[in-house]
Amino acid sequence: LPEVAFAGRSNVGKSTLLNALTNRKGLARASNTPGRTQELNFFEVGNPPQFRLVDMPGYGFAKAPPQVAKRWRFLINDFLRGRPTLKRTLLLVDARRGLKDIDRELMAMLDEAAVSYRIVLTKSDKLKDKPLADVTATLAEQAKTHAAAHPEILTTSAESGLGIDELRKAVIQAIG
Ligand code: GDP
Repeated sequence: LPEVAFAGRSNVGKSTLLNALTNRKGLARASNTPGRTQELNFFEVGNPPQFRLVDMPGYGFAKAPPQVAKRWRFLINDFLRGRPTLKRTLLLVDARRGLKDIDRELMAMLDEAAVSYRIVLTKSDKLKDKPLADVTATLAEQAKTHAAAHPEILTTSAESGLGIDELRKAVIQAIG
């Protein structure tokens, strides 16, 4: 089955977005706590199944011990290597926080594995101190230097429902 993966730092709103997207409450697990066993979760969508959503383990938790970060890198690299079924990764970024080093590290891994990805802003309803257009322009500029990054940024809010339909369309489009 074709797959679309969701990745992002811990607490970025990944579970909430996955639930909003699938209209199913409690599908994706609540936030990972640091040090907790990290794993990939797969959700088959459609009956019969048409594609798979891949919930990548959250990363970059401030209190995560080094072994957890090391394990995460290994797991992601292992998953990405030679995976023709993986059509796209959606890289979730908190609208208020922007790209962190650990996001750039994942972007480099995706570039390396030639897995196309798109930045999806989350929690845009919480952005109060600067215009959304500035945030997306900055991210689009940063994405330009990455070979596998989609130049357009998707903006979402699970709270207001902004961008959820567009996100669903992006998933459908990615699976072709
Ligand atoms: P995960 O660790 O990436 O899976 O993050 P969660 O989905 O568990 O969300 C982390 C926290 O952010 C929770 O308290 C959510 O209620 C909150 N949250 C998620 N999405 C939004 C959003 O669009 N707007 C607002 N205001 N809060 C959100």
